[in-house]
Amino acid sequence: MSSPQTPHAPHELHCPRCHSTHLVQRATARKVGGVLGAAAGTAGGIASAGAGAATGARLGSLVGLIAGPLGAPIGGLAGALLGGLIGGATGGLAGAQLGDVIDRKVLDNVECVACGHTFQSDEPVSESP
Ligand SMILES: [Zn+2]
Repeated sequence: MSSPQTPHAPHELHCPRCHSTHLVQRATARKVGGVLGAAAGTAGGIASAGAGAATGARLGSLVGLIAGPLGAPIGGLAGALLGGLIGGATGGLAGAQLGDVIDRKVLDNVECVACGHTFQSDEPVSESP
């Protein structure tokens, strides 16, 4: 216990203009990416659910032999619905992740509260209490 190290953050991010540490993270592209990704994912999910719907329809008609003639359309509908839901969820996630990368690599993702300066940083902003 004879090597005291200062318990201070090694990389405290501060504003390059006024050196304030009062910074906030901006997530412009992340938000846009999430919305666009969800929309594209839903559309793609429903489109690719054609295959799922066909499988569902086949399965449904198989079950339909027992359950009646309604089995096939219900199976197809469930397939398209599931495809759209899963596509939207994964698309939104992928869009948000892509947006996150754009935010960090391309856009100014950190904003200084003190002087309003925006700049780009790879490091996450540690918000002080
Ligand atoms: Zn500043």
